[in-house]
Amino acid sequence: MELIKIVEKKAKEGIALAREEIVSLLEIPLGSEEDIQLRKVAHEVALYKTKGCAYIWSAVGADYAPCPMNCKFCSFGEEWRIIKEQVHYTKEQIINRAKQFVNKGARFIVLRTTEFYSIPVLIELAKEMRKQISGSYEIVFNTGEFDMTIANLMAEAGVNGIYHACRLREGIDTPFDPWERKNTMNNVYRSGLKLISLVEPIGIEHTNEEIADNFLQILKHGAVISGAMARVPVPGTPLGSIERISDERLAQIIAVLRLSGGDIVKDICVHPATPEAIQSGANIMVVETGAIPRDVHCEEDNWHGVDIEQARTLLENAGYNVYNHE
Ligand code: SF4
Repeated sequence: MELIKIVEKKAKEGIALAREEIVSLLEIPLGSEEDIQLRKVAHEVALYKTKGCAYIWSAVGADYAPCPMNCKFCSFGEEWRIIKEQVHYTKEQIINRAKQFVNKGARFIVLRTTEFYSIPVLIELAKEMRKQISGSYEIVFNTGEFDMTIANLMAEAGVNGIYHACRLREGIDTPFDPWERKNTMNNVYRSGLKLISLVEPIGIEHTNEEIADNFLQILKHGAVISGAMARVPVPGTPLGSIERISDERLAQIIAVLRLSGGDIVKDICVHPATPEAIQSGANIMVVETGAIPRDVHCEEDNWHGVDIEQARTLLENAGYNVYNHE
């Protein structure tokens, strides 16, 4: 309990935790009194640091198409042959979906693609969104690798941020050189775009040290939003038969990350969200549609039926005011 008091104080003062502290928190036995206290404190700190503000992150998967990178957890890997019929959403379809999300109060509209989707097409989409959809929402891209010139063009087109991650066991469970992923994260930071990066995709095999190191990398790259995403086992992918981490473990990881990010990370996102995680420090919840790398079909509605209204209720039940457009 002494450690929890120390980290609570540091979190409120905006001091990021050291690796040993993060690992010690992640070692707390699940369901123990200490674990319950950790999550309670993280929730209090979250309300204090965010001034009670929560946000909805809405993602539109633009292309349900085989990706030659074959990451071992992703349903889009072309080698897994999961995709029987490709779906490439048109500009109009994507903008319509984005408009619906904006109208319902999502703060972040994320355009997510496979690794080699055309970046000029994405940039045109962002420009078109700004023309057709008014409001104080933020546009985020989640796409492949790019350099500084491209990052600057994205910013000029009205993009606010980029989701990018150097995933757990990058280079082992994926064919990427981890340097390549970090280089893109660096380009985002240097361009002035917001970097959003989660510790992901977390499986039961990942150690506390791996989680801590991954999060410290995220801090080093200046991400303003972080958090944790559990790996959703997709049947037919190489990691698809490994069970998912428990809701309790995901909530604990969220609590630890909420207390670890100092003044660098402002907001904490969890995916897939659970009431436990939202009451353990997360203040951003994801609603997604279209091509989803965690599923074996294209989602015409909201993934797993989680819509903006439900997300709003979950966040409000945890004591947050959920952002709405002016
Ligand atoms: S995670 Fe991204 S890069 Fe990897 S296979 Fe899926 S779409 Fe391609």
